[in-house]
Amino acid sequence: KRPGGVSKWEDHVKAQMYQPKVYGRALSVKVAPTPVPEVHHEDMQELIMIRHMYTDIQRYLFLRYLQDSQPDTFWKLMINNAQELLPYVYTPTVGEACEKYSNLPIKTRGLYIREEDSGKILEKLKAWRHQDIQVIVVTDGERILGLGDLGAGGMGISEGKIILYTVFGGVDPKRCLPVCIDVGTNKESLLQDAEYIGVKHKRLRGEKYDALVDELVHAVKEWQPHLLLQFEDFGNTNAFHVLERAQDVVCCFNDDIQGTACITLTGLLSALRVTGKKLDEQRILFLGAGEAGTGIGKLIALAINQTCGVPMEEAMKFCFYVDSKGLVCKSRTGLQHHKLPFAHDVPFQPDLLSAVKELRPTVLIGVSTITGAFSKEVLEAMREYNERPVVFPLSNPTSKAECTFEEAYQHTGGAVVFASGSPFPPFVTNDERTLFPAQANNAYISFLKHIFGPIGMAAVLTKCKTITEEVFLITAELLAAKTPEARLESGMLFPAFSDMKEVAPQLIAGICEYMMKVGLGTQPDGVTDWLEYVKEQMFKPPEGTSSRL
Ligand code: NAP
Ligand code: MN
Repeated sequence: KRPGGVSKWEDHVKAQMYQPKVYGRALSVKVAPTPVPEVHHEDMQELIMIRHMYTDIQRYLFLRYLQDSQPDTFWKLMINNAQELLPYVYTPTVGEACEKYSNLPIKTRGLYIREEDSGKILEKLKAWRHQDIQVIVVTDGERILGLGDLGAGGMGISEGKIILYTVFGGVDPKRCLPVCIDVGTNKESLLQDAEYIGVKHKRLRGEKYDALVDELVHAVKEWQPHLLLQFEDFGNTNAFHVLERAQDVVCCFNDDIQGTACITLTGLLSALRVTGKKLDEQRILFLGAGEAGTGIGKLIALAINQTCGVPMEEAMKFCFYVDSKGLVCKSRTGLQHHKLPFAHDVPFQPDLLSAVKELRPTVLIGVSTITGAFSKEVLEAMREYNERPVVFPLSNPTSKAECTFEEAYQHTGGAVVFASGSPFPPFVTNDERTLFPAQANNAYISFLKHIFGPIGMAAVLTKCKTITEEVFLITAELLAAKTPEARLESGMLFPAFSDMKEVAPQLIAGICEYMMKVGLGTQPDGVTDWLEYVKEQMFKPPEGTSSRL
C-alpha cells in the first residue's frame, strides 16, 4: 500500500532510513574554525568535545564548568590551546555571556562590591576565600566592549580578562581576583528582568559613586599593598577621574585608555620601520576622541617627547582629533576635560575629509565605532599626501571598523601600512601576492591586545609601586623591536601568535629590568638573570594533568 504523499520510492526510503546526526560542525560560527597550529594529544578529548558543540555560549559554559570542577585540566587546556580557546572564554563570546549573565547557569567567580558594603569593603576582602591576591580586574559594567551598560553582567568581563593574566603573563590563577562594582544600570531591559542579579536601580552617580570607588581602592591597598589593580570597561564619564584618583594610591592602570595606547604605539613604531620615517616627522589624526583615542595620543606625545626631545606641550601638537562634532580645536567651546590638551590653534573643520585636507596627516587612526568613516575620498587624500600612509581603523567589532583592509589597500594603490582592531581576511593582489592585515587585535586574539598580561606579571614580580606612562612606552618599544623583518615586509606589524611563548617572558623580563632601573620596583632576593627568573616564576599547570571527563 503506497503511503500517503509518496510518489518516488527512493526518496521515501531515504527519508525513512535512520541517519545519525552530524555532530562536530559548529553551527554558530562567530569565530571561524581556527587552523590550530599544534594540538597536544592529551588535550584532544576536551578539544573535540568543544569543537562538537553547537554554540559558542555552550563552549563558554563548558569551559567555565571545567575551570570550576577541574582547574588543572582547564589551565593546561587554555595554555596549550590559547589561540583556539580564548575566543570562547574572552571576546567575542564573553560579550554574549555578559549580556545573558543573569540568565545563564553561572556560578560567579568574583566579588561584587555594592553600596551596602560601604564602610565594610576591607572586611569583605579579608573574608575572601583566597588572600595573597596579586591582581584584581575591576569593572563597573558601564561600557562593556562595544555593548554598553550591562550592569552586574559586567562581572563576566572581569572574569574573562583575568584569565589572560595567567595565559599571557603567567600569574598564578589562585592569586587573581575578578571584581564588579554593582552600582545599578541604566539599561531598562535589565531592570525589567526578574532574574537580573544586580541591584535594581539607575546607576549611582557623583559623590556616592566616587566615595564607593575610593573606598575600594584604599581597602585594596591596605589589604594587599603590592597588588595590581586593573580598571576595565568603565564608561567615559568616570574612567578618567577614577584612574587619576587611584594612581596616587595603588599600582593601577586602565586597559581601555592605557593598554590600547601601548599596543597602538607598538603598531606605529613598527609602521615607521616600514616607512623609514621618524616619529617627529608624523602628524597623527584621530577619528574619535574618547578613552582609546586620547589615551593613544598622550602616549604618542610621550614617545615623541622622550625619544625626540620635544617638550611635552609641543609633542601634544602632533596629534589631532575629529569627534562627533568635528575637528577638536581651540575655538571649540564646552570640550570635555580629556580633549582639552589636544585643542590646538587650527581652523575648525566640520568633518574628517576636510580635516584630512587641512592637516595632511601621515597617520590616520580610527577609534570612533563609525563603520566606513575612512571613505574612498579620505583614503585617496591620505595617499595623495603620503608615499606610505599609515591607516589604523581600530574600532571593534569588525562591523564597526572605519574601513576594511581591502578598501585601505585599493584606495591607496597598495601603499597603505595597515593595522586594524578586528580581523580582516588576507587580500590577494592583482599580481597574486597574498597580503595579511596586521591586527592590533589579532584574528583569534593576539597576545598583543593583552599586553597587560606581561606588564602585570612584571609589576607583580617587582612589587612595582606604580605603572607610569613610561612603562607603556618601554613595553611598546620592546615589543615593536620583536617583529621580524620578514613579517614587516608582508604587512604584519606584530610578532606572530605562535611566538608568544617565547616573546612573553622576554617582554616581562625587559619590563622588570626597566622597573628596577628607574626605581619603580624592588629586586627580589638573589635574582641576577631576569629572564631565567621570569620563566621560573610563570605559572605552569601541574605536569601530566590528564583528562578525567
Ligand atoms: P568612547 O570613549 O565612547 O569614544 C568614542 C569617540 O568616538 C568619542 O570621542 C565620540 O565623539 C567619537 N564619535 C562618535 N561618533 C562619531 C562620529 N560620527 N564622528 C566622529 N567621531 C565620533 O569609546 P572608546 O573606548 O574610545 O572606544 C572607541 C572604539 O575603539 C570602540 O569601537 C572600541 O571597540 C575601539 N577600541 C579598540 C581597541 C583595540 O585594541 N582595537 C581598544 C579599545 C577600544 P564625542 O566625544 O563627540 O562623543
Ligand atoms: Mn575594555
